[in-house]
Amino acid sequence: MSSSTVDRARLTELMAREQERFTSSHPRSGELFEASRRSMLAGVPMPWMTEWAGPYPVFVADAEGARFTDVDGNSYVDFCLGDTGGMTGHSPKIAVEAIAAQAANGITLMLPTEDSIWVGDEMARRFGLPYWQFCLTATDANRFTIRLARALTGRPKILVYNWCYHGTVDETFATVDEHGIVSARPANIGPPVDPAVTTRVVEFNDLEALEEALAHEDVACVLAEPALTNIGIVLPDPGYHEALRALTTKYGTYLVIDETHCICAGPGGATMAWGLQPDFLTIGKPLGSGVPSACYGMTQEVADATQAYMDGLPATDAGGIGGTLSGNALSLAAMRATLEHVLTDEAFERMIPLAERWTDGVKAAIGRHGLPWDVQRLGCRAEYWFTPRPARNGGEAAAADDHELARFTHLYALNRGVLLTPFHNMALMSPATVEADVDAHSTVFEEMAAELTV
Ligand code: PMP
Repeated sequence: MSSSTVDRARLTELMAREQERFTSSHPRSGELFEASRRSMLAGVPMPWMTEWAGPYPVFVADAEGARFTDVDGNSYVDFCLGDTGGMTGHSPKIAVEAIAAQAANGITLMLPTEDSIWVGDEMARRFGLPYWQFCLTATDANRFTIRLARALTGRPKILVYNWCYHGTVDETFATVDEHGIVSARPANIGPPVDPAVTTRVVEFNDLEALEEALAHEDVACVLAEPALTNIGIVLPDPGYHEALRALTTKYGTYLVIDETHCICAGPGGATMAWGLQPDFLTIGKPLGSGVPSACYGMTQEVADATQAYMDGLPATDAGGIGGTLSGNALSLAAMRATLEHVLTDEAFERMIPLAERWTDGVKAAIGRHGLPWDVQRLGCRAEYWFTPRPARNGGEAAAADDHELARFTHLYALNRGVLLTPFHNMALMSPATVEADVDAHSTVFEEMAAELTV
């Protein structure tokens, strides 16, 4: 049976039942959603919140660790964890204490605090790059890094993978077709210029296309996730990263590794786990236990070149790098507490086996019900696919998307107290996640697979 042979009539019928179950068990969220429509576009504070599988999002009452409760009193195991922003578990006590102490002691001054030194040293230890700068979002980190790469190389373009995601960075919303033609991604809102002007795009794991693109010698940097995580988890072929490093060096292109999601591979992300050697590294999301926090690091060589470049500028406050709130005292205190006490080496030793357990549970149900689906995992992040094998690149992954089926599996889980990331079939383990949480998902997935294949 292929995913397309999941009986669509049965799916429609089950989906209608689940919608009904959702509305009857979430009346207060429904009322709040109606009230939200008075002042907010589509009734939500941010457009992505329209992507949840139900007719409206659940409104949160409180969250702690790997669980939260909604305003109707339903309680959930959270495998979305704020799409990695809450990967620490919600409001980890020790970080909350440090955040509260700093909040009472000065939040943002545009002056450094001692915490920045601790965090800079710790980032260097974890990721192997000696110099760091702080900002508030991974988007910021990527935008600033791209600017520096263009400034230092004098080259106009960047290179990204088809169906990547690196934040709201104009240059990255580009796609490539089978003839190698680059154009704006679908749903790219108001691009400033045709992305073909700024961007080369190749498929992940395609070294030939990569070399052909870099050989133009107009690419300032490759901006790469070590594994794609935003179109499902797509792992690199053996040897891919060594070749990527060699080709970027050969053609004088900087290699920027975005660890924002791949930190799931371990305390030093995939960079440490796989021995990657980027020129720049960017990361955001979970670094401050949810307090906006991000940073970018660079090698000694890049730092020297950057310093020389900066020294030649008349001023640095309007150069397109940095920001009023970047590197603020609260953010740095949150990062210090998170790295020192929450996302520790020891935490990953517990989180990764939980993702293995989650994967085993899903695999067992897929096997029992003869579904032609598969599971992929990267460290403490795992995800199921509606195809017999996970994709090798973004194009394949995008083609494998089954929106209707995904909405059903997500709503089915949500109605039974299990939250998955809305854009993927993905689950993330936090230091607060326990085996019983994972088993709750396995049970729900098993029931769902059984109902789907009756
Ligand atoms: N890089 C990667 C790999 C991401 O997955 C994301 C967000 N999904 C970002 C950057 C941007 O993060 P933010 O929205 O916090 O700026």
